[in-house]
Amino acid sequence: MNADLHCHSSASDGLLSPAGVVRRAKTNGVELLALTDHDEITGLAEARNEASGLGVDFVDGVEISVSWGADHTLHIVGLGIDTGNEALRAGIAGVRSGRDQRARRIASALENVGICGAYEGALRHAGNPALVGRAHFARYIVELGLVRESRNVFEHWLAKGKLGYVPHPWANLADALSWIRVAGGVAVLAHPGRYRVARTELHRMLAEFKEQGGEGIEVVSGLQTPAEVHECAGLARRFGFLASCASDFHGPDESRVDVGRARSLPDNLTPVWVRLR
Ligand code: AMP
Ligand code: MN
Ligand code: MN
Ligand code: MN
Repeated sequence: MNADLHCHSSASDGLLSPAGVVRRAKTNGVELLALTDHDEITGLAEARNEASGLGVDFVDGVEISVSWGADHTLHIVGLGIDTGNEALRAGIAGVRSGRDQRARRIASALENVGICGAYEGALRHAGNPALVGRAHFARYIVELGLVRESRNVFEHWLAKGKLGYVPHPWANLADALSWIRVAGGVAVLAHPGRYRVARTELHRMLAEFKEQGGEGIEVVSGLQTPAEVHECAGLARRFGFLASCASDFHGPDESRVDVGRARSLPDNLTPVWVRLR
């Protein structure tokens, strides 16, 4: 089964329109697709409509930004959410509301290291002015010609600890999980292998996530190496998590893994889609 349960459109920091993501997924053979924009659900109606025309099974999703522990940012994917649920809508609206001020702070941090006009530049790259994120800053800096690829911008300026990084208070984990739960969704921890935490802290994160209602983790993610996939498969078995499979696709020339082209799930796991249809 070709399932891709995490990708982005121009409603957040993806490069393609919601319908464009679905068309590309169809071309790549996807049978079950979830669009999961950051803190945003406005792309889902268009995507669902396109998917229904193309005969692709579609799941409404969202990727919620969460602050956890001392200074970690986690991403929680909600799958099969009721997009009309007021608690979820209000919750993610609250998460989005801090983004503009954060963007201004990122821009002024970048200005301090000689990169000017970044707020306006990032906004120009944002398909949704309510959802300016670091990926839009990265595209602006690539456009300036300072580095070749978005990922180099993160290495030099935007990753945690770099001069253009601004800490930001996102949702707390319990709130994000409760929004997903009341909206009837399944909560999945995105790309567990990518958090820069020690193993004991990762285990604590997973235990807390599970205790508060988290049901699945991304075992396969376009962001994870084969070694990380292997490790996450072990963690899913050990903690009893459903396993998700995702490209985390953002755009054709930007993402290493295309939509629908992530590897398949390792054996001896229960796929999260048993809960989705
Ligand atoms: P934000 O929610 O604004 O902090 O942006 C997070 C997004 O930035 C991620 O979803 C990716 O799209 C992008 N991103 C984060 N780290 C990297 C990286 N090292 N290389 C490329 N893109 C990244
Ligand atoms: Mn992103
Ligand atoms: Mn993420
Ligand atoms: Mn993502």
